[in-house]
Amino acid sequence: MEKNIFEKIIDREIPADIIYEDKISIAFKDINPQAPIHILIIPKKRIEMPEHIDENDKDIVGHLFVIAKKIAIDLGLKDGYRLVMNNGEIAGQSVFHIHLHLLSGRRLSWPPG
Ligand code: AMP
Repeated sequence: MEKNIFEKIIDREIPADIIYEDKISIAFKDINPQAPIHILIIPKKRIEMPEHIDENDKDIVGHLFVIAKKIAIDLGLKDGYRLVMNNGEIAGQSVFHIHLHLLSGRRLSWPPG
């Protein structure tokens, strides 16, 4: 199966500004930031969409949130941040390898567009 763009980042085949990595996950700066802080936290396992997450993935997906919290603390995001995961093209998903967006550094409106 051909690697997706995030698998190429994991394998260092394309560059990214990686800020965190462990056995399960990797986090890097979004190439097209929508806020002053915009980090993507992704699993190393290929899961194409949130709707494909199954029982066996609970630890992996939970881990993404634990790492997001750690990054937020490390970056001193005391005023808050948003965690978002898009499912499907209509919801704005453009890369089909699940990723948690961590957005901060400005006031974020709600509801999102
Ligand atoms: P989504 O639209 O929810 O699938 O989010 C995909 C995100 O990946 C977008 O915010 C893109 O800007 C970001 N992105 C795409 N390619 C890269 C890349 N090579 N390095 C970093 N971020 C990327």
